[in-house]
Amino acid sequence: MAFQSINPFTGETLQSLAAWDRERTESALQQVAAATPAWAATPLLQRCDLLRKAAEILRTRKDTLAHLITLEMGKLYTESQAEIEKCALGCDYYAQNASEFLKDEMITTDAGKSYVAYQPLGSVLAVMPWNFPFWQVFRFAAPALAAGNTGVLKHASNVPQCALAIEDIFKQAGFPDGVFRTLMIRAADVKAVIEDPRIAAVTLTGSEPAGRSVAATAGDNIKKSVLELGGSDAFIVLEDADLIDTVKNAVISRYLNGGQSCIAAKRFIVVDAIADRFVSAFKTAVEALKTGDPMDPATTIAPMARLDLRDDLHRQVQDSITAGAVAVTGCEPLAGSGAFYKPSILDHVEAGMRAYEEELFGPVAIVIRANDETDALRIANESRFGLGGSVWTQDLARGERLARQLQCGAAFVNGFVKSDPRIPFGGVKASGYGRELSHHGIHEFVNAKTIWIK
Ligand code: NAP
Repeated sequence: MAFQSINPFTGETLQSLAAWDRERTESALQQVAAATPAWAATPLLQRCDLLRKAAEILRTRKDTLAHLITLEMGKLYTESQAEIEKCALGCDYYAQNASEFLKDEMITTDAGKSYVAYQPLGSVLAVMPWNFPFWQVFRFAAPALAAGNTGVLKHASNVPQCALAIEDIFKQAGFPDGVFRTLMIRAADVKAVIEDPRIAAVTLTGSEPAGRSVAATAGDNIKKSVLELGGSDAFIVLEDADLIDTVKNAVISRYLNGGQSCIAAKRFIVVDAIADRFVSAFKTAVEALKTGDPMDPATTIAPMARLDLRDDLHRQVQDSITAGAVAVTGCEPLAGSGAFYKPSILDHVEAGMRAYEEELFGPVAIVIRANDETDALRIANESRFGLGGSVWTQDLARGERLARQLQCGAAFVNGFVKSDPRIPFGGVKASGYGRELSHHGIHEFVNAKTIWIK
């Protein structure tokens, strides 16, 4: 079976679904292709009304959908509820702002009239990950559909029920058949879909190898692509940081979602003057996290989404310890059937260790000690990744100066990096290219077309 829905807390297989054969995929693509011109010609305000309906359905079904997310990938039920709320917010945001973002842009030239018209590209393929199984999809779909594109989803293999539930939301909201389809296909089938002439563009959120492969096919076929890849965000703690507030935010940023967020703080780069005090307070806070049933409101840290991911993480941790990193707390799997990894801190991480060079996609914080501010900035920018970063200091001007020098797509001062429909989201370097959300996101999959009239 290609798609296994397995509860990461109990290990129970909830559902197994076979991958579609070529005929079934072909029939879905035909339906999407047939729907594409009519959807592009549908007035923008009508498209936005349907997005508002999708938001309503998300809110009405919030608890059921949140339960499904928790069952399939293990995050805390409260986190799943917040994710559904955020999807509704994203739909409302584009329903409200798309017409302003996409209005003709008048430009004064030697013509009698000249302007840019933003027109849809056609059908966009979205290859999506399991860690925010609804939000990742909605933050692509809301702007893409509002702009008049149709959408085709290849979701991660471990969240097939979420994939089908998302398709159903658009259907129930009244989007015409074929405007949004979920394809139950394997990763190996993605190449052929990108190559298909009925697909105009592709967006992928996921790992670097998947991004490389999708971008290569898109490039080969001269199709627009957006890549939202991994990150190893710096969380720079300067000697004048407010220790209590900084530690509180460090815990949320690193351990939210079972530690499986692309924009989680992953590298805690702490200047020597505060490092021992930070590590000691951080350890106390991390040891207070409570593992357990993700449906139980008393649980404060979720299991990881799959056992194989937990085992990969443990290997990265063990190799780093062998290379000289120091386990402050955790650093081992929790016994039992759930895919739990103990909330962990690795201190004295240095260049050359796996924890320094690679993304740790689970509940493990790494502490890298820096001599001073300049050294901290050097370490932060030494990463191959460039998704987000944050600076913690009571001197806001100093924080802003450093934030501007961080090589990443989003730099926060005294706040942990988060996504918000109003601000652009995306990375530089090996974290990918292109932007989602805000007006930048809706402009990724449109033709900025010049109209020139004498
Ligand atoms: P993944 O293994 O790359 O999977 C992501 C999606 O890509 C899945 O649908 C997967 O399908 C598909 N896929 C995998 N290999 C592919 C290939 N060669 N060609 C085409 N499609 C392929 O990533 P993951 O483990 O699910 O997610 C974790 C990674 O995503 C982390 O690195 C994380 O930082 C990153 N991430 C980035 C962002 C961001 O916005 N920048 C957000 C969330 C996550 P199958 O499931 O069928 O393999």
